[in-house]
Amino acid sequence: LISIRGLVKAYDAFTVLHGIDLDIAEGEVVCVIGPSGSGKSTLIRCINHLEAFSPDSTITVDGIRVEPGKALAQVRAEVGMVFQSFNLFPHMSVVRNVMLAPMRVRGTSAAEAERKARELLARVGIAEQADKFPGQLSGGQQQRVAIARALAMEPKVLLFDEPTSALDPEMVGEVLDVMRQLAGTGVTMVVVTHEMGFARQVADRVIFMDGGRLVEAGTPQEIFDRPSHERTRGFLRAVL
Ligand code: ATP
Ligand code: MG
Repeated sequence: LISIRGLVKAYDAFTVLHGIDLDIAEGEVVCVIGPSGSGKSTLIRCINHLEAFSPDSTITVDGIRVEPGKALAQVRAEVGMVFQSFNLFPHMSVVRNVMLAPMRVRGTSAAEAERKARELLARVGIAEQADKFPGQLSGGQQQRVAIARALAMEPKVLLFDEPTSALDPEMVGEVLDVMRQLAGTGVTMVVVTHEMGFARQVADRVIFMDGGRLVEAGTPQEIFDRPSHERTRGFLRAVL
């Protein structure tokens, strides 16, 4: 579903990604781990072109080349993203936040968008918060709104960039539970995370990045129980 070839990303003279090759199959759940500054966020932000990358690199999503231009809207309609900082619209009710993209991008009617939004809010366990404003919700609830908002576009791919890192510890579990449940529905997920328990339990494949390179990829058992690279072993020793 996603194909990344020779992905290079540089800021002026500073190269952040040194040629990443990665294929992600439909329905696959991939967790991306690695030290701070290793390029994890940059990698997933390139997938929907939130970051521009070297024109010699290619990324395709569902056969569509990711590049500036008309096709980009099509890619972004298929790729949902959930950020560490929720990024909800503060002046809009929760249900309006979830309704917005389908109405704007797909031309869905307000009635249909609202029906769908309430259904999604129920699915992430916050049906009763639908008519509040984001500021009235806990961090965990806001992040679940952000997930519902991403799902409203019925994306083929969901990208998560440390979705639980900004949450108080007691709220991490409720968000991970929603993500775990989503992983079972067949949506393709790419999750940058420091939650090693989640990665071990939910990922089909774990990718370890360091210094802008994909150091190794494998099943959770391969990466966590018998990593082949010293850098992976060092990282895991530090975080586990
Ligand atoms: P973290 O775990 O801290 O989120 P990360 O693995 O997501 O780290 P990135 O945010 O992808 O890392 O950053 C990779 C590298 O790119 C870092 O060295 C960072 O300093 C650099 N970088 C990111 N954004 C910019 C920018 N706008 N200009 C210059 N360098 C940048
Ligand atoms: Mg990051």
